Amino acid sequence: MPDPASPVVTRIAPSPTGKLHIGNARTALFNWLYARHTGGTFLLRVEDTDRERSTAENVEVIFEGFAWLGLDFDAAPVFQHARADRHRAAAAEMLARGSAYRDYMTPEELAEERERARAEGRTIRSPWRDAPAPAGAGKPFVVRLKAPREGETLVEDLVKGPVVFRNDQLDDLILLRADGSPTYNLAVVVDDHEMGITHVIRGDDHLNNAARQTLIYQALGWGPPAFAHLPLIHGPDGAKLSKRHGAEAVSDFAGMGYLPEALRNYLARLGWGHGDDEIFSDAQAISWFEIADVVSAPARLDWAKLNHVNQHYIRLADDARLAGLVDEVLKSREAHRPPDLAERLARAIPVVKEGAKTILELADLVLFALKERPVAVDEKLKAALAGEGRERLGRLALALSDASDWSAEGMAGTLKRFAEGEGVGLGKVGPILRPILAAGAVAPDLASALFALGRAEALARIQEVLSHVQ
Ligand code: GLU
Repeated sequence: MPDPASPVVTRIAPSPTGKLHIGNARTALFNWLYARHTGGTFLLRVEDTDRERSTAENVEVIFEGFAWLGLDFDAAPVFQHARADRHRAAAAEMLARGSAYRDYMTPEELAEERERARAEGRTIRSPWRDAPAPAGAGKPFVVRLKAPREGETLVEDLVKGPVVFRNDQLDDLILLRADGSPTYNLAVVVDDHEMGITHVIRGDDHLNNAARQTLIYQALGWGPPAFAHLPLIHGPDGAKLSKRHGAEAVSDFAGMGYLPEALRNYLARLGWGHGDDEIFSDAQAISWFEIADVVSAPARLDWAKLNHVNQHYIRLADDARLAGLVDEVLKSREAHRPPDLAERLARAIPVVKEGAKTILELADLVLFALKERPVAVDEKLKAALAGEGRERLGRLALALSDASDWSAEGMAGTLKRFAEGEGVGLGKVGPILRPILAAGAVAPDLASALFALGRAEALARIQEVLSHVQ
């Protein structure tokens, strides 16, 4: 356990696999919240020891994912691969201390020992643990930890409580492979120690590693950090979250139109909570966040709740920012983008944003305002315009061109007075006006749609329909 008086240092240590899993994003968020809550430091370590997968693009995915999510680091990233010499030096130190040994078993001998160990229900044992080095130089070896065979290893987990592992069930894990490359558990311990990490907060799929890593800390004579293992995120069906639940990477959620601040808020609630608060700011989450409030049961992704939180943040979001995001969606859909797109979006977004749960929905909701004229006249509109309808639409165009207040409220008043003047209900106005305003898309209520289109566009659409329908 770290000294309670020393400043907190946390880290997120993703491997560059080509995506940033939402579980990793949540783990990063908790580390970030805890560092910010305590006035500590939040670090990034890229675990790029798998040289095939650790391409520049895959590393970039990690940087972009955290940048998008709005999690900032307090120092430049540490690259694990570049520290292999440090890992080897630690293994050498363990050899010198007698807490590790060179194991010269051949692959065939190891396979046989593995069979025997399985049959006897025990961990594998190397004959080299207590034997002197073989005669003759150059025999290949791996370096193994000389793990205690008796007693227990205790992991005082801040989420799970004390977790006890029987040492006879922990094997002499490999520290350096035959080619001299360090293994995952060695690298993590050396890096966490040398980066001064005080709190290792990560997914509970690493709980077993915490026991192994504790043994390595002991073998090096170092004090282990505090461990906090978070329950994994499950899908709505209770299975570990994966692509088949609809999304698993941060980029999937971004592509589905979730805002980063909404995701931060929602992810904070997955496995942690402050009373019943569902919606809160970063500042609130930072001031409230305690590891003690992390729950140990797996958290389930709930799309309805996420949508609710996202809708809230879309409502709060700046309209110009939303316009930019909608434009990205339009581009990715290769949708029509009229030359005066910016003005059209500026008018339409405030009118429809209340109803949008995602940016994709917002992009659907503004479509009516982006259609080029002439708008299509379908059979239904034709029928509505037959007989009295066409004349009425003509009179409506006049009323609209005379309207003095082209706000949504003003339009509501104009439509009401128009219907009264015609001696009909609004039910007679909707069928002739709505299809023209909607132009084949979804439109908000008539008054809002008129406001969003603006006088010139609304009247031009109506005039064109009048001139096409005789
Ligand atoms: N690279 C590991 C992972 O992505 C990190 C494990 C750890 O946080 O210690 O799961």
